[in-house]
Amino acid sequence: MLPLTDKSLRASFINASRKEVSDLALPADFDTLDWDRLDFLGWRDPKLARRAYAVVPTLEGDLIGILFRHPGSMPRTRAQCSWCNDASLPNDVVLYNAKRSGKAGKNGNTLGSLICEDFQCSANARRPPKTWYEGFDVEEARQVQIADMQLRAAAFAAQV
Ligand SMILES: [Zn+2]
Repeated sequence: MLPLTDKSLRASFINASRKEVSDLALPADFDTLDWDRLDFLGWRDPKLARRAYAVVPTLEGDLIGILFRHPGSMPRTRAQCSWCNDASLPNDVVLYNAKRSGKAGKNGNTLGSLICEDFQCSANARRPPKTWYEGFDVEEARQVQIADMQLRAAAFAAQV
């Protein structure tokens, strides 16, 4: 994805109050991120334990920033992440909840999704696929995995 700035990142949020946006802390490694290997930027707030964020580029090139609530100390599951769709994840998956934007959110509507706890989806989608057969094009399959993940993340962001 294209690199974000502090400003473009904060301006992208659709389901957070001004205060929530100004309170958010950037990921600790923000200045050294390898943007070429990220399809969206997701992170847990280094200061506020129950908060997490994802800034997802849409197919049209817009940015959708989402504020998530971390479920806290619920049991960890080795479920399938609904964004990277990887069934053999090296990390935990948690049920993240996002308040819907606009009126729906004011009425208490939320949207939940099982997502890699530290939003490792971009890295997971870049892992070589498990299935293999003669003539199998690993690189092409990886590109498909990455593109599918981008679509699922963007589709979720559009629903918020
Ligand atoms: Zn994932």
